[in-house]
Amino acid sequence: MVQINSEETIKLIADLVSIPSPSGNTNEVITFVEDFLKGLQVDTYRNRKGGLIASIEGQDSSKHRMLTAHVDTLGAMVKEVKGNGRLKIDLIGGFKYNSVEGEYCQIETQTGKIYTGTILMHQTSVHVYKDAGKLERNQDNIEIRIDEKVHTAEEVRALGIEVGDFVSFDPRVELTPSGYIKSRHLDDKASVAIILQLIKRLKTENITLPYTTHFLISNNEEIGYGGNSNITPETVEYLAVDMGAMGDGQSTDEYTVSICVKDASGPYHYELRKKLVQLAEENNVQYKLDIYPFYGSDASAAIRSGHDIVHGLIGPGIDSSHAFERTHHSSIENTAKLLYHYVQSELVL
Ligand SMILES: [Zn+2]
Repeated sequence: MVQINSEETIKLIADLVSIPSPSGNTNEVITFVEDFLKGLQVDTYRNRKGGLIASIEGQDSSKHRMLTAHVDTLGAMVKEVKGNGRLKIDLIGGFKYNSVEGEYCQIETQTGKIYTGTILMHQTSVHVYKDAGKLERNQDNIEIRIDEKVHTAEEVRALGIEVGDFVSFDPRVELTPSGYIKSRHLDDKASVAIILQLIKRLKTENITLPYTTHFLISNNEEIGYGGNSNITPETVEYLAVDMGAMGDGQSTDEYTVSICVKDASGPYHYELRKKLVQLAEENNVQYKLDIYPFYGSDASAAIRSGHDIVHGLIGPGIDSSHAFERTHHSSIENTAKLLYHYVQSELVL
């Protein structure tokens, strides 16, 4: 009987999403993950990109398996300090301006000072701007209102705020009594938490894995190159654990684990997909097969960078991804269960 402590996992997700980590500025969250793994006596290694690798020796070390999830998130960077004392932003990662309109944010200066603000349309007040609702949400119209008494670019600069400062969004994490977790950045911190809990479980249950298994907590996925390095030559299978995409025509939901059969990069490895389905069926894991139309994962990034591997992608279903995300604890549980059985299974090749 597989016991999944989803409450502990959800608490860990809440901790992770509360640490700002837009791609390019992930040191703090990586340190958090590092400390978590240290606490489990798991050795880790940081690559030069700033990602973290934990390796667990298995019975067979001539063949390896690798799993990855990413801690970097969407975010923004100060593009311009405007003459009106507000900030123009440049987006980090693939999302639309309307998904951050009205969001509270944090600006981190290069010296580590933190200021708060709100992301707004320049023309927000309906008492002043007649067309407030109709104007395009774009780089020209969206700006940050800093919570400081500043009305000129000089006053903003006097705070130490400059072009290139990182901007992160308030995750507004909330757990509902009905079992949902609402938060930004569930992509992909939900999966990071699942992987960390999996490692904890392997340790506490003293499980010896069949193959040496590497867990890569990548920190550049949202910009396309998080998990395409540090793959050992012995690595046969490479599984990305990332969110399942929901929307019209999608089969992914917030209650099951989504097994991706194909995304924008093409089909995932057929044998591994069949194996994941078989494992789900044998172990009573609720799953959905799905195609993600506008999606690429660290597994496809790894293939693109020239690694000869068997690649796959699974993850919890996340509603309104890259915007107002939500999932349910049952999706977390099903993903955790499938991974637990997967890491203990035979390789497909
Ligand atoms: Zn993701």
